[in-house]
Amino acid sequence: MIKCNYTLPEVGEVSRTHCIRCGTCCTKGGPTLHDEDAVLFSNGVLNKADVYTLRKGEVVRNIDDTLTVIEQEMIKIKGQGESWSCMFYDDDENACKIYQNRPAECRALQCWALKGLKEVMARLCLQRKDLINPGDGVLRIIEAHEEKCGYAMLDLAVRRLEGADPEKAVEDILDLLRYDDHLRPFLAEKLKMDPDVMDFFFGRPLKTTIRMHGLCVKEEGDGFLLTKA
Ligand code: SF4
Repeated sequence: MIKCNYTLPEVGEVSRTHCIRCGTCCTKGGPTLHDEDAVLFSNGVLNKADVYTLRKGEVVRNIDDTLTVIEQEMIKIKGQGESWSCMFYDDDENACKIYQNRPAECRALQCWALKGLKEVMARLCLQRKDLINPGDGVLRIIEAHEEKCGYAMLDLAVRRLEGADPEKAVEDILDLLRYDDHLRPFLAEKLKMDPDVMDFFFGRPLKTTIRMHGLCVKEEGDGFLLTKA
């Protein structure tokens, strides 16, 4: 496990002293998981299909709309489809479906006083290797994936778009996208891996997250078309 270095966005203080179950905190994105949340996987409250990985170097948008490049990977609970709402938030009941076993950040969050949340966020973040058996071959596949299409490589290639050989930069970006895009269905077919756990093992698809680098990808036939976002 590593120490989380994600910057807590400043949230305005609110004029209350207790939770009124407005649900706002649960609709702003699921929590990042910390070392003490590992038990939620061993006792079956969470499974790998419920979470996704933010990979090292990934650009993420904070709730105050600023961007952050994360320096170490983190694991977060998934949202509901395209929405930021945590997958465990029940809109009809304004309630958390796993309230008794909610993760550390959720237990600490008091929107009227963020000190507790800041303390939890300063603790160690869970990483993929904390949730995978050390002998599991998928660790080597994750390593290869990072070597072939890590965010540092993507960032470098995107910067080269403004350089002397933009066509080569485009080709390199497309290579990264193709590797990431082919790996997931390949593993689902060959190793019978559940498609829903791919975002835990390999992070969100590059063809989606590349938007944070100012680029857009369209799928055309068997290939990709790269445009400015
Ligand atoms: S786990 Fe529960 S408390 Fe935490 S963000 Fe999701 S719905 Fe809200």
